Amino acid sequence: MKVLGLETSCDETGIAIYDTEKGLLTHKIYTQIAQHAEYGGVVPELASRDHVRKTLPLIDEVLADANLKKSDLDAVAYTSGPGLVGALMAGATIGRSMAYALGIPALGVHHMEGHLLAPMLEEKQPKMPFIALLVSGGHTQLVRVDAIGQYKLLGQSLDDAAGEAFDKAAKMIGLPYPGGPYIAKLAQDGNPDAGIKFPRPMTDRPGLDFSFSGLKTAFLTAVHDALDRDAFNDQFQADIALAFEQAIVDTLVIKCRRALEQEGLKQLIIAGGVSANKRLQSQLEIQLAKINSSVFYARPEFCTDNGAMIAYAGAQRLLAGQHSPLNLSIRARWPLADLPDINEEI
Ligand code: ATP
Ligand code: MG
Ligand code: FE
Repeated sequence: MKVLGLETSCDETGIAIYDTEKGLLTHKIYTQIAQHAEYGGVVPELASRDHVRKTLPLIDEVLADANLKKSDLDAVAYTSGPGLVGALMAGATIGRSMAYALGIPALGVHHMEGHLLAPMLEEKQPKMPFIALLVSGGHTQLVRVDAIGQYKLLGQSLDDAAGEAFDKAAKMIGLPYPGGPYIAKLAQDGNPDAGIKFPRPMTDRPGLDFSFSGLKTAFLTAVHDALDRDAFNDQFQADIALAFEQAIVDTLVIKCRRALEQEGLKQLIIAGGVSANKRLQSQLEIQLAKINSSVFYARPEFCTDNGAMIAYAGAQRLLAGQHSPLNLSIRARWPLADLPDINEEI
């Protein structure tokens, strides 16, 4: 079965074709980052307009790339939430209409289920049950995964998501949006002994929830302090980037380890934009080896938003006989735990 996947929940138009026999055939991503850059964040109305403009041409491109015609497709999967309403509407309308015209099933996919299953597109795959750390621009959640659609929320951020904290800190020192990768790059030149200390929020008490907003305030205080001392130079920026990255990574690692131990599981997957962070990946590899556990993640372009994860997640549910009705329903807010089990009738 060949499934066309459309991702349009935020500022990336991601289109892919996943073949349930041959695997991923092709994928393309068009990012709107440049359009939103001057505003320092995503402007919803601009995002929707751009998805409307880019989705159809990109569908033609992936079809040509895979040497397929529209009539070769067996189903269409599109992101139906959570995300920006207008952006979701663009992808859902195109996906739904195309499926109707071709007489094939369509399925609305949960964006975070897409992220969660992205590591399954790689050669090294975990086997369920496992723990998933979803770390993106809008989410920081620890989830126990027993099967597709059997998700138990173990903990989540009470305020900012980890990616959001990266982005806000980056903005404070004048780095472009989205700031996570820029902080990570700056941190490479940081000195770990520079003496900048940040807390590891909520790690000294039991539980699996997170809080990153205090860390952001600590970052701002340290920046002001350096400005007052006339010490806000290139080396300081690298040092503070490293200290901040280490604080977020340590906090995530401590909670992942705790979740594995609590649930008696040995496999962790990390997914969403922040899972592309090299320090997070390597620290988890080192720390989980100590408890005989392992970590799985997708290649960098499948950590951030992409169409491949939507095509894959959609394909799994379509294979199980699930599909969405003809009327369009998108959900800007949508808890992952509300999803049906893969074997449930919907
Ligand atoms: P959500 O998936 O919660 O709706 P989103 O789709 O906006 O949010 P993603 O596209 O999955 O989020 O991820 C983007 C986030 O990942 C941004 O906050 C970005 O700064 C962060 N990010 C990307 N690469 C890195 C990196 N190497 N290190 C740290 N953060 C990163
Ligand atoms: Mg994005
Ligand atoms: Fe995302």
